Amino acid sequence: MNSPADGRALQLLNSVFGHPAFRGAQADIVQHVAGGGDALVLMPTGGGKSLCYQLPALLREGTALVVSPLIALMQDQVAALKQLGLRAAFLNSTLDGREVNACERVLRNGELDLLYVAPERLMMPRMLECLAESRLALFAIDEAHCVSQWGHDFRPEYLQLSVLHERFPAVPRIALTATADPQTREEIIRRLSLDEARVFISSFDRPNIRYTIVDKQDARAQLLRFIREEHDGEAGIVYCLSRKKVDETAAWLKSHGVNALPYHAGMDAAARAEHQDRFQREEGIVIVATIAFGMGIDKPDVRFVAHLDLPKSIEGYYQETGRAGRDGLPADAWMAYGLGDVVQQRRMIDQSEGSEDYRRVSVAKLDALLGLCETAGCRRVRLLAYFGEAGEPCGNCDNCLEPPQVWDATEAARKALSCIYRTGQRFGAMHLIDVLRGRSTERIVGRDHHRLGVFGVGADLDDAAWRNVFRQLAALGYVCPDHEAYGALKLTEASRAVLKGEQRVEMRHVVAGKGRRPKMRSVAAAGATAADSALLERLKVWRMAQAREQGVPAYVIFHDRTLAEIAAAQPADIDALSALSGIGAKKLERYGPALLELVRG
Ligand code: ADP
Ligand code: ZN
Repeated sequence: MNSPADGRALQLLNSVFGHPAFRGAQADIVQHVAGGGDALVLMPTGGGKSLCYQLPALLREGTALVVSPLIALMQDQVAALKQLGLRAAFLNSTLDGREVNACERVLRNGELDLLYVAPERLMMPRMLECLAESRLALFAIDEAHCVSQWGHDFRPEYLQLSVLHERFPAVPRIALTATADPQTREEIIRRLSLDEARVFISSFDRPNIRYTIVDKQDARAQLLRFIREEHDGEAGIVYCLSRKKVDETAAWLKSHGVNALPYHAGMDAAARAEHQDRFQREEGIVIVATIAFGMGIDKPDVRFVAHLDLPKSIEGYYQETGRAGRDGLPADAWMAYGLGDVVQQRRMIDQSEGSEDYRRVSVAKLDALLGLCETAGCRRVRLLAYFGEAGEPCGNCDNCLEPPQVWDATEAARKALSCIYRTGQRFGAMHLIDVLRGRSTERIVGRDHHRLGVFGVGADLDDAAWRNVFRQLAALGYVCPDHEAYGALKLTEASRAVLKGEQRVEMRHVVAGKGRRPKMRSVAAAGATAADSALLERLKVWRMAQAREQGVPAYVIFHDRTLAEIAAAQPADIDALSALSGIGAKKLERYGPALLELVRG
């Protein structure tokens, strides 16, 4: 912090945004862009990307154009900026001709700090002409990974954004994304002609997210217990693989008193939009969804993301769980995972239409994710290592909080594999476990399996332990599902060494009942005394009323974090209030008196 521009940036950060200090690389990025440089910013969700273009927008002459594919969000983003006292507007297909004209007029007149535009709108000749007649501060290209043809979020219109560089060479560009992998990064640079841009890569760690992967037993009941005990009344996302399971799970949660709504691509567009909108605007809604849900969600106070099915890759897992805790407050990433998930994902890959290459890549990605699920070490270390980042055990994942024991499972693995072999590689885990445990069920006697040498050799372990053994064997590649026979397990090339006693196998113990991992108390309750939790409640009621009156989401008025700070600090006057995070000059002026009134009771 030494040039005058730096001092001015910090001053605006304090007075307009109400934040006491820059976070991570923000200060450098702001300075670089404000000085006219191009930038590529890679920062995790919740890292604070918006400030990286909003502040330069204020520091530079003219209007900042923010390109974003998330049309549904623009209105709320603009509302939030207006709350801060900025001059902001948006241009997309939801506006009528008159509104568009009005917007273009204020742009030409230089009366806007920020203008959000959809990419297809930006590329229209009329828009480009209008831009040529306006004073432009910078172009911010948000969700820049949308240029990648290999990603989920590919938007063909993004490919045309390189035109901006040709038409407006003097206007700095800043591209931003939360996608971590190097291929996407290179694609962004190439397709947007950002070769000259300075690249800012932040750590992709999300320290406030606690990772937990539990052994799947009765997944729905486990989920309900998790929500009730740790996130009662809080907003969350539950991911399921199929539309049917989404509908069933949402209905079931609802019948058990959870405020749950379904979301998937099979629903009609209006219902889908309504559910997304309610999730975004109301408090405490749990959305049950396929991975169709997520892009375009910018809700800061999602307190948990739960997976009832295994994602396809670590990238998917990271992106989906990353929607939790954008506000930096504690949040949970929780997943229930079992043998069925391994079998299902492997089958989907084998039966996919893709090329040999595609399948090989898919298998490698799934294996990396299974490694994360089965590791006895820190989940975060494993996750970050996948993105090329080194780290220390985090103390905020299930394995750190409750280190699993590892046991020598070589004997058990041999028994399990030989049971598969002796029964002809035609049965699923349930039947195999019955054989190992020596149960004379009808199915077993009917097939003479009670006469096999393996019958009853596994009486020393219980069913849950055997399920774990089979799951880990599948995850480690010692058994694979047979696609001809539903649920049947077969041996693999790798099983031979284990059967022959040449390969030792280590497994993690199933922790019976779990529950030793400390429960996350609701954020509202965390660290609050009785007096300030009553105050917090009053603040929330007031915020809800304000939000309704103005037709904006509650977090646009104040984030949970700011309300929690007010409740804890109980400021006595405007000065004390202004020292808290998230209260800039405009909000202080507008809401300060009401807040102080609430604090006084
Ligand atoms: P991203 O777009 O990277 O997901 P946002 O720009 O939405 O992240 O910021 C995430 C949250 O962090 C927001 O609540 C924002 O107000 C807050 N934030 C950003 N920068 C700072 C800062 N310097 N100090 C305090 N809070 C910040
Ligand atoms: Zn850890």
